[in-house]
Amino acid sequence: MFEHVDHYPGDPILSLLEKFGHDTRPNKVNLSIGLYYDENGKIPVLKSVQAAAKIVQEKAEPHTYLPMEGLAAYREAVQHLLFGRDSAALRDNRVATIQSVGGSGALRVAADFIKTYLPDSAVWISDPSWDNHHALFTAARIQVHTYPYYDAVTNNINFGGMLETLNTLPAKSIVLMQPCCHNPTGLDLNHAQWKEVIGVLQQRNLIPFLDIAYQGFGDGIEEDAWVVRAMADAGLTMVVTNSFSKNFSLYGERCGGLSFVCPSAKEAALVLGQLKAGVRRIYSSPPLFGSKLVATVLHDADLRQQWDREVAAMRDRIKTMREKLRNSLTAHAPSVDGSYLVNQRGMFSYTGFTAAEVDSLREDSAIYLIRSGRLCIPGLNNQNVESVAQAMAETLKK
Ligand code: PMP
Repeated sequence: MFEHVDHYPGDPILSLLEKFGHDTRPNKVNLSIGLYYDENGKIPVLKSVQAAAKIVQEKAEPHTYLPMEGLAAYREAVQHLLFGRDSAALRDNRVATIQSVGGSGALRVAADFIKTYLPDSAVWISDPSWDNHHALFTAARIQVHTYPYYDAVTNNINFGGMLETLNTLPAKSIVLMQPCCHNPTGLDLNHAQWKEVIGVLQQRNLIPFLDIAYQGFGDGIEEDAWVVRAMADAGLTMVVTNSFSKNFSLYGERCGGLSFVCPSAKEAALVLGQLKAGVRRIYSSPPLFGSKLVATVLHDADLRQQWDREVAAMRDRIKTMREKLRNSLTAHAPSVDGSYLVNQRGMFSYTGFTAAEVDSLREDSAIYLIRSGRLCIPGLNNQNVESVAQAMAETLKK
């Protein structure tokens, strides 16, 4: 019956994680999957989240279904976090927001909506982008193209190439961009560059699709939403997907959001209706527990402040590790320009290492990066950063 089913070779990142688990070398270092680890190599349980869990548990509310669009308090918190409390779009009721099953679920619901209501629009993603972007839109039968983003020669953004391509796109094309901490390169546009992009989007009537999965890991929670707000203030019709997997360390609770900023309140109501219908057809309603945790933290002034401090601590540790890795790498290999490590932001650095160099790091030194050369900074800590830098330097000398 199922002989004809295609073999699934597995997800390359998750397969690598499995391989890491089986590696018996005591000095092994996991710098592959996009998880935030603390200084002790543990995935943190945030204190603010723990306090919220206690509040939620003490209430002992029934485990009933959420509405299709999710918990109202959560959706409001998502809106304030992304667009700011004083957003004109929010005031005018022009934003349709649903709670989603992680950032991935938001992307998929958005993709289905786009396929139905903008059937002629293709999606343009950065080259490179998070691998699943391509897969998620393709699964919704949407054409996916890339615009230039990473310049391997300079290890920087090919902004000229990016703009040139955006300037050729047909009206209503969807342009997927990451507001901060770009996965996988760690390279973000600056404000002046974003303003240029906004100009092109307006001029050509393109639809920005902002996917923000690391809010708070770049410059700050408010700062990292700058372009979301700038685009909404510029009056662009846009899509925003967000994830709390990293900044709340709530990976498995599947907490995300999907927002459409619409030209009018009337259109936002129509869009919200179809997003609900889309959810009903896929999973009917989103998960309850994680949404209560996030809503509790974000609506309680003290817990919100505590969360801000915890996000700042994660962000600062990432920055410290970037500096330590850069300093040790350049101490071991003075001819290597390690400045990219501190210029890139968020969880990831694109090292420029070839697949062969990545293989050699893994085989010879038990250091696991993904084969594109992407290195997950929070896998570093004070115990391993020196040996990682040394191994990187040796690999580059080979
Ligand atoms: N977008 C980007 C850019 C991501 O890096 C990720 C997570 N790796 C997601 C979306 C998906 O988030 P989630 O894990 O919450 O589904």
